[in-house]
Parts: sequence; structure tokens; C-alpha cells
Amino acid sequence: MIIVLKPDHQEEDLHRIIRRLEDLGLRTHISKGEQRTIVGAIGDERLLREVPLESLPGVESVLPILKPYKLVSREFKPENTVIQVDGREIGGNQLQVIAGPCAVESREVLEEIAEELVPLGVNFLRGGAFKPRTSPYAFQGWGEKALKYLAGVRERTGMLVVTELMDPRDTVLVCKYADVVQIGTRNMQNFRLLTEVGNIDKPVILKRGMSATIKEFLMSAEYILAQGNEKVILCERGIRTFETETRNTLDISAVPLLKDLTHLPVIVDPSHAVGRADLVPAMGKAAVAAGADGLLVEVHVRPEEAMSDGPQSLRPRVFRQMLDDCRKIARAVGRDL
Ligand code: PEP
Ligand code: MN
Repeated sequence: MIIVLKPDHQEEDLHRIIRRLEDLGLRTHISKGEQRTIVGAIGDERLLREVPLESLPGVESVLPILKPYKLVSREFKPENTVIQVDGREIGGNQLQVIAGPCAVESREVLEEIAEELVPLGVNFLRGGAFKPRTSPYAFQGWGEKALKYLAGVRERTGMLVVTELMDPRDTVLVCKYADVVQIGTRNMQNFRLLTEVGNIDKPVILKRGMSATIKEFLMSAEYILAQGNEKVILCERGIRTFETETRNTLDISAVPLLKDLTHLPVIVDPSHAVGRADLVPAMGKAAVAAGADGLLVEVHVRPEEAMSDGPQSLRPRVFRQMLDDCRKIARAVGRDL
């Protein structure tokens, strides 16, 4: 339910409404806009049937939230969610860039890559310690050893660590080292895992399932928020279509669409979207033009030697050029990068 307050309501009216809703066991969220204050109420709406909310002082109207997702919807919270991570903001005016190798391969290679990224102003270092591979015989990641290398780079450079969590049993371990936890495309509907990260106190990047609709994507985010973790960043990473020339098809329309439907930050991963390094810069630029709050890009000093996703990994020189171009586009759409 959304309770819209009258423009001239008293502070006491607002408190009375919140108390009433919370006494019924409903969760509330208050949005104070320039024109209107609204209260979002989540929970079993049957409880409200007998409560004449409309007649409470200060209430202008009471509207149901029609979408199946509630906490993530713009109706529930009209203002953008800005996520604070150790002094950096995701979802604010400044775009954030997350870059690094697909997988953490060795301490040396990770450090070499990070050394290229720091001068470019990249705040977030990505790298998989647990890799979801199609083949059980492919490199699966170095686990905790890789997490330690990532944390080592953070200590030296101040870059924040983004890494994937695949299994609820690894939550404590991954959270010990990660600043931002990534849930991969293959796990977007792993509801146990979503519930697990709903209970951690770290931002979560939720990647869109490769065959997930926007509604399914938002319902998965709802799982995380429903547990109490409101720090969710949505990531469009391409979806499966009939096209085989590219690894996936980047659904660029997902960016403005998600920004319309939800208050959560939206970032784009152009690397997994196309699977080809030569196409990544154009897709990154398109994402910024479309209103993305950030980019997640695979970068490697020697893509030909990469243990996974080499063909889509950008060399630092190409990545720098892409960022320069993205910066101009960001400025043109009123953002900073
Ligand atoms: C990744 O970011 O390395 C990854 C495996 O991505 P996705 O889950 O989108 O395939
Ligand atoms: Mn990858």
C-alpha cells in the first residue's frame, strides 16, 4: 500500500500513521519529496482491510502497489537509492566503474592488472575466486587463496573488492574479503542464495539471469530486500536470443526500463553481453548514454593468456580509451565519471 499525505499534513499525523502500520506488523518506508510525502507499507495487506487509513488525519489517498515486486518498486520509494561503500557511492551522480579479470589467476597477474587500473581512477576491482563454469573440467577459481590476493590489492591500492558468491556455504568466507558481493547470472533465481545475501550487511550486485524477464529480475531483487538488505545493484549483462554472433544480446532498453520501475542502481556488464573485446567499448558507451549508473568490465593485461573469458577482456590501453569516451558521454547526459 502507498499512503499519500496531504501537502499540509502535520509531523504528528505522519508518526501516527507509521505507528498504526507498524503495530499491525507492516514494514514502512517514508519518502519525503518536494511536493508530497508518501509512506510505503509492506506486509499482509489483509491486515489493512479493517483499518480506515483514509480517514486518519493528514492522509490524502491510499493506493495499492499493483506490481508483484514491492520494496524494489519506484512506487514504494520514488527517490533513487544511493549505496555507500567505503566512501564511494553507487547510484549517485558519479558513475562507478568495476574492472578486472574474469578470474583471479595469480597474485602477480592480479597486481599487474590493478596497477593499470588505479591510474584510470577505477575504484572497484573485480575478480572471480569461485567461477561458475559450464564445464566441470574448466578452471573453477582458486577459492580463498584468490580472495586473499584481492584483499591484498585493496590494502595496497584502496580499490574495493567485487567478487562472486556461488554457494550459501561460502557466504562468511566471501564476506570476509569482499566489499561488494556478486550474484551471477546462473544464480539469479537461486532463492536460497538470494535469501542468504539478503541477510548480509554488504552491497550485492545481482546479475540478470540470461533468460530472465525484467519482472523475474526484479522479483529476485525483491527476495534480497525482503530479508532486509536494501543495498542491491542490478546488472544487465546480456540475455540469450536467437543471435549467435555475439555471446548474448545486450538489452540496452533494460537500463531506462529498470530506472523507471525501480529505485535501485543499474549497471551494465558489456563484456559478458557481447563476448568479443572489439564490441565491448561501443556497448559500454551505449550503456552510459542509456543512463547506467556504472559499468562492470573485464580487463586483462594479456587476454590471450587469460584462464577464462580472454576473448572478451579488454587490454588496459583499449579500456582507457573506452573510459575517456564514456566520460564525454556521461557529461553529455549530466553525469560524472
Ligand atoms: C562474471 O562476472 O565473471 C560472470 C561469470 O558473469 P555472469 O554471471 O554474468 O555470466
Ligand atoms: Mn567472465
